[in-house]
Amino acid sequence: MHKILLLPGDHIGPEVMAEAEKILRFLNAEMKLNLTFEQGLLGGAAYEKYGEPYPEKTQQQALAADAILLGAVGGPEWDNIERSKRPERGLLGIRAHLKLFANLRPALLYPSLADASSLKKEIVSGLDILIVRELTGGIYFGEPRGIRTLANGERQGYNTDVYSESEIRRIAHVAFQLAQQRDKRVCSVDKANVLEVTELWREIVTQVAQQYPDVQLSHMYVDNAAMQLIRAPKQFDVMVTGNLFGDILSDAAAMLTGSIGLLPSASLDANNKGLYEPCHGSAPDISGKGLANPLATLLSAAMMLRYSLKLTKPAVLIEQAIQQVLEVGIRTKDISETNKPFVSTQQMGDAVFNQLKETLA
Ligand code: NAD
Repeated sequence: MHKILLLPGDHIGPEVMAEAEKILRFLNAEMKLNLTFEQGLLGGAAYEKYGEPYPEKTQQQALAADAILLGAVGGPEWDNIERSKRPERGLLGIRAHLKLFANLRPALLYPSLADASSLKKEIVSGLDILIVRELTGGIYFGEPRGIRTLANGERQGYNTDVYSESEIRRIAHVAFQLAQQRDKRVCSVDKANVLEVTELWREIVTQVAQQYPDVQLSHMYVDNAAMQLIRAPKQFDVMVTGNLFGDILSDAAAMLTGSIGLLPSASLDANNKGLYEPCHGSAPDISGKGLANPLATLLSAAMMLRYSLKLTKPAVLIEQAIQQVLEVGIRTKDISETNKPFVSTQQMGDAVFNQLKETLA
């Protein structure tokens, strides 16, 4: 039995979640996956009911779940409430509470959508990169930090980039194990020529690599990695890096694929329990209009089946159904060409659903 917690969130969150739930329930029934579903509140929706963006009830549900699928949280109606109560705090809260230290951001470009990228078709068509970013350490959390006033009266801002051996080791293991399920190549990104913290990073990643003789390890300085991502992105399989470099590189890699409506993500703890969510926000500008692309959430659901529940077959089926739907030209507005027809959120969900039904018939 796998307990799945669904957190639809706010604005387009419930719209895209409805499509993911429809497909997960169908696969559960057809393939006897033994999934159970529970709904919970996070973000603005939770604030409205409990006065907290990550209330006690949701915390208990999250601890009890084997995996969590999230829509998106936030909206302008909560912009002026106390900072600690804002929807985004709910997201930070659940990530910290569950100790989700490994952030997985795939950048995958379906050949039928190669025109949506800002790069030339031949450079990105068929792109399939997985960026593994350390999420709970590094310069975003290092102490000491702050803004101080120097003796001469000038102010100085400072942060500390810090990684312990164990933190590096555990994220490296995640990257190597994921590479074993893919093309068996890991590129570790650092700035070991300048920063001691990443000199240690390189040393530890190299040590961990010895336990994965089937995976090929390379190292790259972050400035070169940024350049290579734009110049020849298909050279990468898995990239592993720290919090700051990962933040920047994963957004750059994501944009190679063209649309925010197609980008899934996962954040895992030490036992592969994870929070899965589309990379986009709650898009209040389009909520309630049927314009949201549900595919990022469907792809997040596929990642959830694969990484936390080890249900590879249904994960592959969802991904293939999405590819087939895109190949026949079905598009939501965000990925359609100007003046070309497009389908609604629900119609896109139905198209994937029908494709799966056909495949399993
Ligand atoms: P956004 O990602 O919500 O929207 C950016 C743009 O992309 C908008 O024009 C939107 O219409 C479009 N877009 C987003 N998702 C789409 C989809 N599935 N299909 C089609 N178009 C889509 O970012 P934002 O506007 O900066 O933020 C809106 C709210 O979401 C804010 O409250 C923000 O704090 C929150 N937010 C939440 C998350 C999260 O829940 N993980 C992430 C980012 C932002």
